[in-house]
Amino acid sequence: MSDLLDELLIQASDATQQPPTPEGGILRQWVPGWIRHPVKCFLAPFVVMDYHMQRFARKLVRPPFKQEGGCKKRGNCCHYVLIRYSPSLIGRFFYFWYTQFQGFYPRLKEPQEYEGKMMHVMGCRYLKKDGSCGQYRLRPLVCRQWPMIEYFGYPRVLKGCGYRSNPLYPPETPDNLEDEDSRLKVIQ
Ligand code: SF4
Repeated sequence: MSDLLDELLIQASDATQQPPTPEGGILRQWVPGWIRHPVKCFLAPFVVMDYHMQRFARKLVRPPFKQEGGCKKRGNCCHYVLIRYSPSLIGRFFYFWYTQFQGFYPRLKEPQEYEGKMMHVMGCRYLKKDGSCGQYRLRPLVCRQWPMIEYFGYPRVLKGCGYRSNPLYPPETPDNLEDEDSRLKVIQ
């Protein structure tokens, strides 16, 4: 992980307010609301269906880590959302989709390295001051899935959010007394 991202991660887990607006302001959404909103409403049932299918699959085949605890509703996991960087056409399409339709905006100009991949570091314009989500019913899949307990790889849980994995990750050792991981929200 890049040092900068590492630092942001620590800040996000402890923050009591949102990070400052990025230099140069928040990226403008030039796709008008009368296009954005119906498209998101049209896709929402598929997103919900996808989410419930994944939950059902997890009941049939259990991942190696179990999710425990509950959301403290701080909104800190929305401070830095990572979107996979790719110069390819499909990568650019997803960037367009997440910035123009889903309301994310870049917090840093340059992509950062995370688990061997380059990621855009994004903020979300729908995050309200009280930590709640301004598009809760239409929020994207990554927000519904969070925290991520995956079949392969380690759980992604933001430290202090109220969730934890069982068994704990990173594991408790004499050198590492952290009881929760402090990872970021990632869109693969
Ligand atoms: S869409 Fe809602 S849940 Fe997702 S990052 Fe934005 S404020 Fe958070």
